[in-house]
Amino acid sequence: MYDAIVIGGGPAGLQAALTLGRMHRSTLLLDSGQYRNGTVQHMHNVIANDGTPPAEFRATARAQLAEYPDVEIRDIAVQAVAGIAGDFVVSLPGGSSASARAVILATGVADDLPPVDGLAELWGQGAYACPFCDGHEHAGKPIVVLGAAARAEHLIAMLGRFVGDITVVPVGESYTDGEVAALEGRGVRVSRTPVDSVGRAGDGVVVNTTDAAHEVAGIFVASGAMRQRASFIPQLGLDMLESGAIGIDDFGRTSVPGIFAAGDLAHRASLPGPMAAVMMAATAGQLAAVGVIQDLMASEG
Ligand SMILES: Cc1cc2nc3c(=O)[nH]c(=O)nc-3n(C[C@H](O)[C@H](O)[C@H](O)COP(=O)(O)OP(=O)(O)OC[C@H]3O[C@@H](n4cnc5c(N)ncnc54)[C@H](O)[C@@H]3O)c2cc1C
Repeated sequence: MYDAIVIGGGPAGLQAALTLGRMHRSTLLLDSGQYRNGTVQHMHNVIANDGTPPAEFRATARAQLAEYPDVEIRDIAVQAVAGIAGDFVVSLPGGSSASARAVILATGVADDLPPVDGLAELWGQGAYACPFCDGHEHAGKPIVVLGAAARAEHLIAMLGRFVGDITVVPVGESYTDGEVAALEGRGVRVSRTPVDSVGRAGDGVVVNTTDAAHEVAGIFVASGAMRQRASFIPQLGLDMLESGAIGIDDFGRTSVPGIFAAGDLAHRASLPGPMAAVMMAATAGQLAAVGVIQDLMASEG
């Protein structure tokens, strides 16, 4: 039996495993290889790694973890988690399983993009959602903000200070007259017709509507949603927050003793949503590992 099983090999899970390994806690990290930033070429806003390819970041982390004899990594998808604090069983494909005294969920979230032809192909390489991650690269350049008016206004408020021209384009249905007036009041162009498709155009992208083709440097998506990546999460009976994330305390403890969570899939109730970023996920992973160690020590007397 391992001291801890960490499910997920993104920044949250990798950091959790590092912290546990450094404290000589036997740790099994399980990774299905579905990373939220899996399509991203260069990540940003990560100190000492600004511009590093996420795949390189994960490979470096794994190479460093290989130096810790108490950490084992397996590339495999977890199917289910059962048990109680001190005795969890994690089910794996082919009828095998692994057991541990504590579990850290670091399975992340998946992005449900609005149904726009070509958008999935641009995701992370021409189409983005996070101004902190990809806004700076569009400084002084024209962009399209795509989707829901309320979120579009928020993105305009953040990006409008430093990007070039902004055109806002609706998805599905046209904006109401009130929405158009509010958006135009922010000094941006507003398309009256919804997006038809998006694609690459030279170094940039093109956003096609029924009556225009907007060639810009990038798209910021204002519609779409996040959902829990791992299908077994709802079966765990964890207290969930309005955001759809798992509720945790300061040390990553969920409402179920012995099950911890870290990264995009969870946040403290005091926050409006997950602070979705590599540094934040890694920090949460470290906090959850400390929480596990605290609880293991308490049970050891
Ligand atoms: C387009 C885009 C660009 C971004 N750019 C940046 C950026 O520039 N800078 C930045 O700071 N942040 C960026 N982010 C956000 C960043 O990617 C996330 O905040 C971060 O990856 C969250 O880390 P995580 O460990 O919680 O989840 P993830 O990195 O998504 O990792 C989840 C892990 O769980 C594993 N997993 C899921 N289900 C199972 C299962 N059943 N069994 C086993 N393993 C499982 C996955 O395989 C994966 O290893 C970007 C996000 C997107 C979508």
